[in-house]
Amino acid sequence: YKWVYSFGGGKAEGTAEDRALLGGKGANLAEMCNLGLSVPPGFTITTEVCRWFYDNARSFPPQLEEQVLAALDDVAEITGRRFGDPEAPLLVSVRSGSRASMPGMMDTVLNLGLNDQTVEALARDSGDARFAYDSYRRFIQMYCDVVLGVDDEYFEEILEDEKARRGYEYDTDLTAEDWQQTIKLYKDKIIEEIDEPFPQDPHKQLWGAIGAVFFSWMNPRAIIYRRLHNIPESWGTAVNIQAMVFGNMGETSATGVAFTRNPSTGEQQLYGEFLINAQGEDVVAGIRTPQNLTEEARIAAGSDRPSMEKAMPEAFAEFVKIAEKLERHYRDMQDLEFTIERGRLWMLQTRSGKRTARAALKIAVDMAKEGLITEGEAVSRIDPASLDQLLHPTIDPSAKRDVIGVGLPASPGAATGEIVFTSDEAEEMRGQNRKAILVRVETSPEDIHGMHAAEGILTTRGGMTSHAAVVARGMGKPCVSGAGTLRVDARTGTLTAMGRTFRRGDVITIDGTSGQVLKGAVPMLQPELSGDFAAIMSWADKLRRMKVRTNAETPADARMARSFGAEGIGLCRTEHMFFDNDRIAAMREMILADTEAGRRAALAKLLPMQRSDFIELFEIMAGLPVTIRLLDPPLHEFLPKTEQEIADVAALMKVPADKLRQRTEALHEFNPMLGHRGCRLAVSYPEIAEMQARAIFEAAAEAGKKTGSPVVPEIMIPLVGLMKELAYVKARIDAVADAVMKETSTTFDYLVGTMIELPRAALRANVIAEAAEFFSFGTNDLTQTTFGISRDDASSFLETYRQKGIVEQDPFISLDLDGVGELIRMASERGRETKPGLKLGICGEHGGDPRSIHFCEEVGLDYVSCSPFRVPIARLAAAQAAV
Ligand code: PEP
Ligand code: MG
Repeated sequence: YKWVYSFGGGKAEGTAEDRALLGGKGANLAEMCNLGLSVPPGFTITTEVCRWFYDNARSFPPQLEEQVLAALDDVAEITGRRFGDPEAPLLVSVRSGSRASMPGMMDTVLNLGLNDQTVEALARDSGDARFAYDSYRRFIQMYCDVVLGVDDEYFEEILEDEKARRGYEYDTDLTAEDWQQTIKLYKDKIIEEIDEPFPQDPHKQLWGAIGAVFFSWMNPRAIIYRRLHNIPESWGTAVNIQAMVFGNMGETSATGVAFTRNPSTGEQQLYGEFLINAQGEDVVAGIRTPQNLTEEARIAAGSDRPSMEKAMPEAFAEFVKIAEKLERHYRDMQDLEFTIERGRLWMLQTRSGKRTARAALKIAVDMAKEGLITEGEAVSRIDPASLDQLLHPTIDPSAKRDVIGVGLPASPGAATGEIVFTSDEAEEMRGQNRKAILVRVETSPEDIHGMHAAEGILTTRGGMTSHAAVVARGMGKPCVSGAGTLRVDARTGTLTAMGRTFRRGDVITIDGTSGQVLKGAVPMLQPELSGDFAAIMSWADKLRRMKVRTNAETPADARMARSFGAEGIGLCRTEHMFFDNDRIAAMREMILADTEAGRRAALAKLLPMQRSDFIELFEIMAGLPVTIRLLDPPLHEFLPKTEQEIADVAALMKVPADKLRQRTEALHEFNPMLGHRGCRLAVSYPEIAEMQARAIFEAAAEAGKKTGSPVVPEIMIPLVGLMKELAYVKARIDAVADAVMKETSTTFDYLVGTMIELPRAALRANVIAEAAEFFSFGTNDLTQTTFGISRDDASSFLETYRQKGIVEQDPFISLDLDGVGELIRMASERGRETKPGLKLGICGEHGGDPRSIHFCEEVGLDYVSCSPFRVPIARLAAAQAAV
């Protein structure tokens, strides 16, 4: 059985395709050899050995030793050096390399093969005894740390003592003799610690290091990293053993790292740094400041130390060619590691480079234009969620952050402003052209105007689907919700954060992308919807099947969504239209009325306002579909709560405070979310639905006349569980439609459909479809009712669930495919059994979540609907799901 794959001398046994077997590093080393690049020869012990190791009480498979010895012979053939040979010793590096990159998580040993004899050969060959003994002591330190478990601090202590004793300041002050003496002290320490001398036999060293790499697959930080990045434990790591090349063999040697394009901007320029006379670790460790690769970068950085281009022109020219070749070969931006040993360039690593969202976009578009990749590949390379970063102002990554608290990243983007504690203050501020951050324990529908006026919203309670989060996302306002370590005292006007107190008017910044709350104003980067963004979006649009609509009710949101490419409105939550100052009064009057006639009188006042709202929406959407949902929340949400508010409102309405209080108490429910809401309101008070339907039809007729093309409104009934509920409300709507047609002597088309947001509706979808012309999955409520957990409060324990591995993700953010998803799949199938052409969409928050969008494509929904700022994300995710 083959456990070992060799590479070097212009050929290799593996290729880049063998990532699962050889790990990323090993597969790419093999590939570079096959491309004829100069790579130090070596071999890879496969990930299968790692699995064998753990399946067999941490032992190695038979034949492994034999295969490793044979591979070492191959390396000897190429290099002319043999492992353990006192005259021409082979030294190797031993590195981990798993299928997915796990930077810094596992162990590495360099300079392996050095002992008391071979160090002298190294001194002779290099003509630099100091370098040789320094390498030896580095090896001892690393080996002890990684394999023998002797703490590095002992050695650092010895080294510090030795320097102090001699009056040296830097490690580089030590001579060869100094290092020899230090090494002796190191060895004594090792015997003292583990009762055994430092191993002199290179083979013993090698097997120790191989074992250590496999052991490191299960070290705690690797386990945690894998959990965070969903990397299966069964993948295992490979071990790469490779002839050492030295970047620290004097002034003609160097080591460096490079990206083939700029990883922060995406610009097509070699980007990176290098250090003369150094080992790879020195660049990473940041002890010495590295130098620029190119002259251009050196000049831009204002550095007076020579660039690689200037200092090592030949190696540089060769490196540029290799970088171009690798990028073309892999068809992606590469992250490279290289070493120059006495003027000769060696490639140590290539892999796809990590990049910012901005850079990812530019690189994908540029590469498609260069013909390196297809438009479809360009689309598939952008992480939809990362677009958030491009649509909102973001905190400058180089800015200093003074974090005073952390909550949930409820709505992306960053905002700075003065602290206010009420919505009225926020409005006042805006009136004075000042910027405010609205800080509340939680928000309610009455805060809409304050949320509009504020730059951003911060709450100390509530999850990702709390009122603040949902509304802020809809508005495209940054929001941090549920920042539980902060205390708000609106009465005294203070915000306390870990012992620090902030007052009304103090400036804070919230970062809705990370959930951080920061003191003061912080420098920001402005969004750039440049040509690249537009290009990717247009390619995505060509590829996707599902339509993308938006959840919007205000003209501003609707316009914004259109500018982001929304193809209609999938959810207009009409209750949000009832909170403005002029409307809330009529709404309350309606709720207080004792008779149907009284309610109709109040509703008559609302009718013209609703009508003009809808006309505006229809005009903005210019013939695109608009789905309007009838009133959904329980009525108590429109009534005042505290005694003070009750008194104020009573005075304003000129009704007795008692009456108002009684009505508020009568409407009180223990479980309002399972209460008298949705279609249940329309069944109890059909006149509300009738008013809304009339407003919709009259608006459609008028907008149709104005724009010259007919408007086909879609009326949606919320929280349906029984077919008869839907049929009852639909009959009322149809009657209004007939009446409006007669009155206006016109005819018009319209659709009546239902939300599917209760499990019963999903179960009975075949019957409900008889009365519905479309379904829209309200996955916020459907998740709430399927799990039986509150969308407003569950975040308090869902995080614990996540930490304990009971749920993987918050089901209010990413659709629970097994449970809620199953209901959606079933309802879609059952609905379409009854009505083959039944239009299906989703309008819960999940409609903007890429993973959930993939599922929607799979079940064959016609469209997804999401908040305006998520529209580009949904367009991209829908395209990726379709290909
Ligand atoms: C839903 O429940 O998923 C939905 C879209 O309605 P709302 O969020 O308004 O309850
Ligand atoms: Mg709902």
